[in-house]
Amino acid sequence: MRALTIRQPFADAIVHGTKRVENRSRTVPARHLGTAILIHAGKAPHALELPSPDLAPNPAPDVRGAILATAVLDSCHPAADGCCSPWGMTDFWHWVLRDVRPLPRPVPAAGALGLWIPPANVLSDVQVQFWEPPPTRPRTTEAAR
Ligand SMILES: [Zn+2]
Repeated sequence: MRALTIRQPFADAIVHGTKRVENRSRTVPARHLGTAILIHAGKAPHALELPSPDLAPNPAPDVRGAILATAVLDSCHPAADGCCSPWGMTDFWHWVLRDVRPLPRPVPAAGALGLWIPPANVLSDVQVQFWEPPPTRPRTTEAAR
């Protein structure tokens, strides 16, 4: 599972708000389309402001340097007139996200460029939060035979 570093307040806008498109200068490598990724909040604040104050995520915990959520990297397309409004920017590739699932507990991690591979301990700290016990086989099935 890969991770994508996004600076605040845009990471919170994905995890707690309405942002479902990430503006990037490159396309998504085809092998990562349709895969689940981790949304990582970078340590530094973004140089850009939100497109509008109305879009400020609520809540906005502003956690930095941590994995905040999982999401599916659904598709990728070049910016077209007004597409992905209000989050899509012109002259970028739009990486479309879906199924954003916030982590109950953010997992600290250093970020990196591109779609990076998280260390094993980070991955396991994420996965354990979504772990569900396997369904137990009802005993009556055996007894009924
Ligand atoms: Zn778009």
